[in-house]
Amino acid sequence: LVSVDGIRKSFGDNDVLKDISFTVGAGTVTVVIGPSGSGKTTVLRTLNALDTADAGVITIGDVSVDFGNKVSKQELARFRAQSGMVFQGHNLFPHKTVLQNVIEGPVIVQKRPKAEAIADAEKLLEQVGLAEKADQYPYQLSGGQQQRVGIARALALKPKLMLFDEPTSALDPELVGEVLRVIKDLASQGWTMVVVTHEIRFAQQVADQVLFIEDGVVLESGPPSQVLAQPTQARTRQFLQRIL
Ligand code: ATP
Repeated sequence: LVSVDGIRKSFGDNDVLKDISFTVGAGTVTVVIGPSGSGKTTVLRTLNALDTADAGVITIGDVSVDFGNKVSKQELARFRAQSGMVFQGHNLFPHKTVLQNVIEGPVIVQKRPKAEAIADAEKLLEQVGLAEKADQYPYQLSGGQQQRVGIARALALKPKLMLFDEPTSALDPELVGEVLRVIKDLASQGWTMVVVTHEIRFAQQVADQVLFIEDGVVLESGPPSQVLAQPTQARTRQFLQRIL
C-alpha cells in the first residue's frame, strides 16, 4: 500500500533524513524505533506532507508524489488526504465537544453531509470506547480519553494509512494501556499503520515490521522476531538495551 523510496530531508545544514526507503503492506503495522533526534517524527511528517521531503518518491495507495520535482498544491493536498495522523498530544479543539471534534474534518474539509458525519462519528466513538463522552469537552476527559478522541478524529477522515507519533509518550503510565489497546484493535481490523513508539512490548505484539532508524537512515528492518529479538546491528542492540 505504501512505498517510500529514497526520501531526503534537511533543515538548513542538518540532514535529518538521508536516504529512507521502506514499504508497508496493506493491513500491516510498521513500528518505527530509534534514538531521540534520529528522524522518526520527520519520517511520519513527510508521509503526511506536514514536512515536504526534498527528494524521493512516496506512494500511498494510488497516489504517488516525486518530491524531487515541483509538487503542485492540489497534488500535495490529494497526497495528504491519503493518511491521518495522531500526535503525541491530542490537539483537540478545546471549545468543541468530543463529537464536534470528530465531525469537524468530515464536515468542514470533506464537505460530507452532517448527519452522515455524526452517524459515523458515533460509531467511531463507540469503537474507541467513548460513546458516552460524545457531548463532553476535552478538559472533562483524561489524557488517555483525549488521545482516543484524537484517534477517532483521524479515523473519521477515512484515510488509507494511519500514522501515530509516540501516541502514548505524553500519558501517565496507567493511561498508556487503554490507548495501545485501541491501536491494537485497529490493527486486528486490518488498518494499515505506521507507529513511532518506545513501547517495545507493544511492538512485539502488534508489529509486522520494525524499522530501526538512526541518524537519518533505516539501519535495520524486519519482523519483530528479528529486529527486536535478534538484531544484527550493534547499534540496534545498544538502543534496545538502553530502553528495555
Ligand atoms: P524524538 O524521539 O526525540 O521525537 P525523532 O527521532 O522523532 O526524535 P525528529 O523529531 O524527526 O527526531 O528530529 C530529527 C532532527 O530534525 C532533530 O535534530 C531536530 O532538531 C530536527 N528538526 C525536526 N524538525 C525540524 C524543523 N521544523 N526545523 C529544524 N529542525 C528540525
